[in-house]
Amino acid sequence: MNWDEFRGWSKRIADWGADYHLTLRDRPVRARTRPGEIAGQFPAAPPEAGEDMAAILKDFEEIVMPGMTHWQHPRFFAYFPANAAPPSMLAEQLVNTVAAQCMLWQTSPAATEVEGVMVDWLRQALGLPEGMTGVIQDSASSATLSAVLTMRERATGYTGNADGLSQKGALRIYCSDQVHSSIDRACWVSGIGQANLVKIPGTGPRHGMAPDALDAAIRADKAAGHTPAGVIAITGGTGVGACDPLGPVLEVARAHGLYTHLDAAWAGAAMICPEYREAYWQGAEGYDSIVFNPHKWLGAQFDCSVQFLRDPAPQLDTLRIEPEYLRTSGGAVTNYSEWTIPLGRRFRALKIWFLLRSYGVSGLQARIRNHVAWAGELCEEIRALDGFEIVTEPILSLFSFRCPGDDAMQQRLVDAINDDGRVYLTQGAFAGRRIIRVQVGQFDTTRADVMCVRDAVKEVWEKIR
Ligand SMILES: *Cc1c(COP(=O)(O)O)cnc(C)c1O
Repeated sequence: MNWDEFRGWSKRIADWGADYHLTLRDRPVRARTRPGEIAGQFPAAPPEAGEDMAAILKDFEEIVMPGMTHWQHPRFFAYFPANAAPPSMLAEQLVNTVAAQCMLWQTSPAATEVEGVMVDWLRQALGLPEGMTGVIQDSASSATLSAVLTMRERATGYTGNADGLSQKGALRIYCSDQVHSSIDRACWVSGIGQANLVKIPGTGPRHGMAPDALDAAIRADKAAGHTPAGVIAITGGTGVGACDPLGPVLEVARAHGLYTHLDAAWAGAAMICPEYREAYWQGAEGYDSIVFNPHKWLGAQFDCSVQFLRDPAPQLDTLRIEPEYLRTSGGAVTNYSEWTIPLGRRFRALKIWFLLRSYGVSGLQARIRNHVAWAGELCEEIRALDGFEIVTEPILSLFSFRCPGDDAMQQRLVDAINDDGRVYLTQGAFAGRRIIRVQVGQFDTTRADVMCVRDAVKEVWEKIR
């Protein structure tokens, strides 16, 4: 392909993108595809000769698109959102085109410096203290793994990387039983092991861990000769939005000299609204590491996860490696690849810059406030449906409910709703029972879109009951 052809196809694809977004409401949110249906339409072997872009794009529309679930659909209420505000898409087009690998300051100084500024802008927007720095990662899972590795190294006097863990005894990490599976995985792959991840039951209206239960667990482990290494708290757990009492949990962790990580992958975005901080964010400023995903609720196209660090030194002492070919000369520059596990880095900060400049903090706040208010309204509508039960009350814009009947009936209802296609919801489990989750957070959703959940639930229920 020459660059004149590239110019033409780029314009066609930009037009296609606008049309796609303008017609999203006409499509079922979740793909209606059977397993193997898409792969079965592909030739068994790669083409021998090159083909026309026209033919490739035609197949993209006819074969690939029918197998897509529409995450930017305004009636996407499943999982958590993966919002891509249009300005962040434009930034990604530029990043794709310049296609730099931004591992070191010198491999693209602008990428490093914009990243530093964007982390600081977001720190301010989330009400975190001056002096906190951070780094942009691909995902919260990577940020959490970085924090768990740091806990491991700090607890072993920074000898785990060199010596391995065979002589280190049991390193223990503490969290509630409401954490995301990325915390389990971080413990698996860091060599700490699932058996050494101590889960404190979440209790009370926020489903958070009780600080005295945490303290008792740490004391018991010390008495048993184990080595406590760190505490992981959550604001906005994936299942039902669980929130730990951040200040009291931090106090316990600090009293035992433990490293602390806060997983606010989803709910962190809402902390740009000062009014939510009193209930959900007090104490956050004291955590050693905090992860939040601008690629979820905030609107920065996937992927984009920010890890804030009170002091980057422990993580750098854990992850930095400097073979000869990566040495750079001169000056005090930041090489962000020393802060993370992958060496290669995309220029993710650009989309945050485009997003924040296009909407301003106030434009993003307005969306999140609407989402929280509409989720509350919808929750009342569902509570009023005959025989329906709200299982967990709204935490920010997430709540869960059950229809009359057993667990199998919950699954039948959620499957039937998703087959209907007007809205997309997902199921979950809470206190041993199947629940149906609703989260409101898609960037373009309107109040009418949100209320469509009630209509879909009511009509589909009447059909299948
Ligand atoms: C989404 C989510 C994660 C995982 O985020 P990735 O960026 O997909 O790794 C972790 N924790 C919570 C609370 C989440 O909502």
